[in-house]
Amino acid sequence: MIISIASGKGGTGKTTVATNMAVSLGSGVQVLDCDVEEPNSHLFIQPTIEEVKTITTPVPEVDMDKCTLCGKCAEICQFNAIVVIGETVLPFHELCHSCGGCVEVCPEKAITETERELGIIEKGHRNGLEFVHGKLRVGEAMSPPLIKKVREYTRPDVLTIVDAPPGTSCPVITAMTGADFVLLVTEPTPFGLHDLKLAVGAVKILGIPSGLVINRSDMGDDQVRVYAEQEGLPILMEIPFDRRIAEAYSRGDMVVDVMPEWKEKFLELYHRIEKIVG
Ligand code: SF4
Ligand code: SF4
Repeated sequence: MIISIASGKGGTGKTTVATNMAVSLGSGVQVLDCDVEEPNSHLFIQPTIEEVKTITTPVPEVDMDKCTLCGKCAEICQFNAIVVIGETVLPFHELCHSCGGCVEVCPEKAITETERELGIIEKGHRNGLEFVHGKLRVGEAMSPPLIKKVREYTRPDVLTIVDAPPGTSCPVITAMTGADFVLLVTEPTPFGLHDLKLAVGAVKILGIPSGLVINRSDMGDDQVRVYAEQEGLPILMEIPFDRRIAEAYSRGDMVVDVMPEWKEKFLELYHRIEKIVG
């Protein structure tokens, strides 16, 4: 089973839920941190890293000795990532989506592919728990290709918990696609509700069953609960504000290590999801 843990808004406690549920379950679990722009699950899980891999993507390079300036490469590129200017052809690697279209259409075979670095993937473990995360190269604008590479580490024989990036755009869709369940983490504030609605819209398009965790549930107002009821979105867990949880988070400690009574609650959360997914 693949559970993707997402939130329309950053800072709602998504990583707290992902890491504590994973550690509560112990072995037979893998955590894929797909928040590649700002991965932080490792700060809590503290895995022993045993593999580091550089991830690249192919981008075009033009041999001007062969090029006849016909413009076919620029015509096919949907991202304006290759243009003909005067007597030269300029590829813009930062805009390139590595579709290979320009290479295919060039009648002179003047375009070859070179590699652009996207970032790195680190793989490790904490006891029986497998851990993988991606770290996007500083200055790299496109995170979905790296997220896809992290998702390729999904193993069919274990429970996969995906820590998705915040938001509702391409990166989070890439992290949610193919999941059996999306667990949305929100907070009961107008901002939380606003972004939750966007996240629910995205999950509906993907057609994945979903449920809700309300963090700092005793603060704010009741609007998130009202909305959840209207949408038929099950509230699977509520985490009240507790200074000890906030302090544990700020120190990089796991909630279940500092307050072991929470282990049962995170296990119960998993069993509720298991029941929904069947
Ligand atoms: S590989 Fe695709 S996206 Fe990149 S420059 Fe060529 S046509 Fe454009
Ligand atoms: S398609 Fe090939 S030959 Fe035509 S402009 Fe582009 S690189 Fe040059």
